[in-house]
Parts: sequence; C-alpha cells; structure tokens
Amino acid sequence: MSVFAYVNGVLRAEDVSVESLAEAYGTPLYVYSRRAMRDRYAALTAALKAVDPLIAYSVKANANRSVLSEFFALGSGADIVSGGELFRALRAGADPAKIVFAGVGKTREEIVAAIEKDILFFTVESEPETERISACASAAGKTARIAFRVNPDVDPQTHRYITTGKKENKFGLDRARVAQACRQAVRLPHVSVAGLHMHIGSQILSPEPFAEALDCVVGLCEEIRGICPDLRWLDIGGGIGIPYRPEEKPFDLAAYAGLLVPRLKRSGLSVVLEPGRFLVGPAGILVCRVQYVKENAFRKFVVADAGMNDLIRPSLYEAFQSVVPVRETEGRMFGDLVGPICESGDFLARDRELPEVREGDLLAVRDAGAYGFSMASNYNSRPRAAEIMVDGDRAFPIRTRETLEDLVRGEC
Ligand SMILES: *Cc1c(COP(=O)(O)O)cnc(C)c1O
Repeated sequence: MSVFAYVNGVLRAEDVSVESLAEAYGTPLYVYSRRAMRDRYAALTAALKAVDPLIAYSVKANANRSVLSEFFALGSGADIVSGGELFRALRAGADPAKIVFAGVGKTREEIVAAIEKDILFFTVESEPETERISACASAAGKTARIAFRVNPDVDPQTHRYITTGKKENKFGLDRARVAQACRQAVRLPHVSVAGLHMHIGSQILSPEPFAEALDCVVGLCEEIRGICPDLRWLDIGGGIGIPYRPEEKPFDLAAYAGLLVPRLKRSGLSVVLEPGRFLVGPAGILVCRVQYVKENAFRKFVVADAGMNDLIRPSLYEAFQSVVPVRETEGRMFGDLVGPICESGDFLARDRELPEVREGDLLAVRDAGAYGFSMASNYNSRPRAAEIMVDGDRAFPIRTRETLEDLVRGEC
C-alpha cells in the first residue's frame, strides 16, 4: 500500500493527516515519508544483492540534510555534482570513502575540496579535466582516483532534456576516446584510473537501455584493463524511473537485475549505483491550497498557492504529475492547475481532469520527492516552501519556510 492513502476520506502521509500538516505548517508544503525512503532503498539493495553494490544516493534529487542522513545511516554513499553538494553530504554525515563526484564543469576549488576529503573517485568527463585533477592532487601531495565517464551513445527513451548518454550530449567521453584518455591518465603521476562510469539519463522506465549501455562499458573494461592496473570500480549511474502517469508501470527491478547482474559479474569489478529519483520521488508530495477557480472562454483554471518556483518539472520538462484532493471527492472538472507566477508556463497540471475544488481546498501533487524542492527558486520573490518528514504517526519539520528577510539576505 502507498504511504500516501486515504483514511476516512482524508489523505494521510503514513499515519499523519495531510490536512493537519497543512494547518500546522501552512502551504505550499513538501511532505515526505521516511518509510517510503527506507522501503525503496531496501527494495533496490535486495534486487541487486548478487553484486552487493555501493549505493551512492544522488544528492541533487533531494538534498535536505535529513533526507541525506537517512540514506547515509542505511549505508548509502553520495553521488555529488558540485562543491555545494560535497558540503551538504559531509555535513549530513556522509563517509567520504563513499562519495563520487560527477559533472562536466568541476572548478579547481571544488576538486581541491574533494581531494582534501579523500573521496572515492571523480568521474571524469574530458581529457583537460584529468589534467586539472592531476595538478590539484599534485599540489596537495596526493593521488586522486578517477573513473572515466563513457558516453555509450544509447537512447534511453526519456525527455530530451534528461538524456545524457547520446553522442550529441555534453556528457562523458565517446567510447572510442576512452582508451586513449586512460593512456594519458596513467602517465600522470597524481591520478589513478580506478574505474569506468556511465549515466545515460533520468526517468528511464525500461531496463533495456541500461543493458545496452553496460555492454558498451563492460567491453571497454576488458579493453583498458591492461592499461589501467588500478581498475576496480564500475559505476553504472542512476536513472531508474518511477511511474508518474496512472498508466505507467513501476520499474521492473527484477528484470533490471536479471539483465544487469550477469554483465556486472562478467566485469569482475565492484559495482556503484547512483539512484536519485527512484529512492525519493514517490516518497514526497507537494501540498497546496486553492486560491481561486477562474474561467475564461476557453478553459477553467485552478489557481493554487504553489507554482513553478516550487515545482518546476511540469514547466521545464512538460512532466506529468498526478494531482489528488487532500479531502476525497468524486467530483471532477477539466482544466489547468496553475500557480501564481507571472509566466504562462507556470502550471502544475495542464489540460487535464482534476478533482473538483473550490477556494480553500487542499490539493496534493504526487511523486514530488525528487527534483521538487531541490529545483525550487525564489522567482517572483516567493519564499521557498517548508519541508516535513513523517515517520509513522509523527511529523518533523526538516526545513522551515523561508521568510521575507531570507529573500534579501546577502543583498548589499
Ligand atoms: C542526476 C544524476 C544521477 C541521478 O539520476 P536519477 O535519475 O535521479 O536516478 C546519477 N548520476 C549522475 C551522474 C547524475 O548526474
């Protein structure tokens, strides 16, 4: 059963009424279920136990300290993409030996900070980056571990903005260049080639693209083993999707494991996995309150107090997110759920059947635990929402609502 379900007609997060949370903490409000996070972590670990992977939770999906420390307590490491995420991960108790650092644009400052903490490895996306990491490590008197990110040129059948492993994307090195990049790296005294990495995109709903990409990378492992004596890790990235639409099926973890495990075993390397969305997406909702219902000659608009600054996925990726009433109702209406932002692209749901609502009613946008708050902004000078963690029948604020003063802090 979902951790968000109706009891006596009112939506609950685990055993807590969402209505009471909205009353107590105001709206818009992010509400997360601790149990959902734990259950999803356990399901993923169990599916892949034959290769006993290091799970490196992808911090950018949801970077709240309490969410991070929850996963770190379960044994997770961290997949980071900036110095800011390094800071957050360490502050939340991450073991540096389980941190992997990705991204095409790492600055010297970011690299130095990660070398000082002795992270597990950098995933390297270009030849100049190898040289920069070596120079930074040399200055620190250390040797940095690196894993080349391979661009396997696989189409993961997802939105074009979140495809990262096709040849036209900015990410990784073309397969044909990796061996040469390894030869260059082993000549440098302060880097050691510790692995290979792939991350082909996000919100991928079928296991086949992962297997196709892995075939490319495992083949490459065999090719470079002779060049790289320190090769030890195979990092297969994140990207496991979740069903946002009612007709979408949950990702088939058993089929994923069935396809990947034999290939991973064949590599003989230790496996790293970087899930983000899969672990936290379904564990969160965004609760908002209806301000107005308005109609023009063409359509009906439900205007809520949450908008694209709180949850940008619908606007940015034309993403579908399910919208449900906090107080169950049979009534339906057709139209758009929009926010208060001064942009026509500010919508949470468009051209859809929605619950029939009136001013003051509460709505919940489901599957908002990943790339929700972490992509929120202050656009239109809107303080960012509060975040609540529910655990059984208890609820804890894990981030307070921003104040007006927060909006101008740092201005001088
Ligand atoms: C964003 C990202 C992830 C996580 O992706 P999900 O789709 O949330 O699982 C993993 N690895 C890298 C390198 C990323 O950039």
